[in-house]
Amino acid sequence: MRKRRRKQRARRTDSAAIFEDKAKINGKLAEIMMATGDRSLKKRAADILKCGSTVIGVLLKGDGSGRVCRERCNLRPCASCDAVKSALETRRLSRRVTEELKSKSVLLFWTPTMRHTIKDSLWALRKAYKTCWKRLTNTTLWKEVAAYFRRAEVERNRNNGWNAHFHVLLKLKPGSRLSKLSTKKLQEKFGLAWLRLTSKVGRPSPVTRLKRVRNKRQAEGVVMELVKYVTKQYTSAKRNESEGVGACDYTPAEMFEYVMGMNGWNVSRYGREWRARNRAERLLAKKEFQFYGIGEIGALEAKLISGTLTREEAEAVLAARRAIQNLLRGDGLGWLADELLGGRKEWIDRATGEIVGG
Ligand SMILES: [Zn+2]
Repeated sequence: MRKRRRKQRARRTDSAAIFEDKAKINGKLAEIMMATGDRSLKKRAADILKCGSTVIGVLLKGDGSGRVCRERCNLRPCASCDAVKSALETRRLSRRVTEELKSKSVLLFWTPTMRHTIKDSLWALRKAYKTCWKRLTNTTLWKEVAAYFRRAEVERNRNNGWNAHFHVLLKLKPGSRLSKLSTKKLQEKFGLAWLRLTSKVGRPSPVTRLKRVRNKRQAEGVVMELVKYVTKQYTSAKRNESEGVGACDYTPAEMFEYVMGMNGWNVSRYGREWRARNRAERLLAKKEFQFYGIGEIGALEAKLISGTLTREEAEAVLAARRAIQNLLRGDGLGWLADELLGGRKEWIDRATGEIVGG
């Protein structure tokens, strides 16, 4: 019995842990948002506070594994949504990188930045990035790129303002001219291209950081850096003047600019081969999983009670019921499992008895 309980605790999935840890941060963020006095930010603050507190159902796989689905606010500053997205992105990107390392692809990790000052608004910087990125994808250089993942990251620094930058991982086309160059030469090429593009928007910035990803160990570090967070939530304890402040320490004015500046920005973007592979994977997963909403879970119970099921149907319903119960318990939602599936033991006993008896 004790062994079983331990196993259940070990199975405790992301969503409950994330929800508990991040609720505190969200409370602080909501407080700052309320302090802006802005109506739309007040509404967002209310949504952030509620984020993750409602369970909408479970996603179940044929083998009984799956996950609990919670209602999410999907707002940019939300710590809970950020963590959920990061976890998903880590798994997905790791799969892509592992595949590429196996087929010996040339993978490059680079960080394009943009010259800025305390006077630049986040919105203006975002616009400049958008323009430069679009032009970059039209260059001859980019014709030799087979796949990429691009992530935007934003940090607030009280000395020099919003430090927005991209982290990019890309795969060069096998056998292409670029793929035969040294890392140093590649750095020159990408550096020059980015310098030209950023000069055109009045922010000349060369690429100063480009490296090859050659093995699993390097890849793990790079994936971490690519997906860790969009914005720092805490201010580092050892902060000196030149380091950034986390979102929990924004002034109301900074928070207002942050929320408005990030609004609707799709910070993670896949391109070309990886985008296609992600889509194929998503379609496959859709077939693999079945979604049981709260209402449908209740309906499972009703099916057993009705007693009109064939033996196969009853077995399937019981298996789904057990799997859903395990998932909910593993997420610290035993009470919900009991509420939805708990109270009709005699009916379950009868159905089970009937199944055992044939
Ligand atoms: Zn959220």
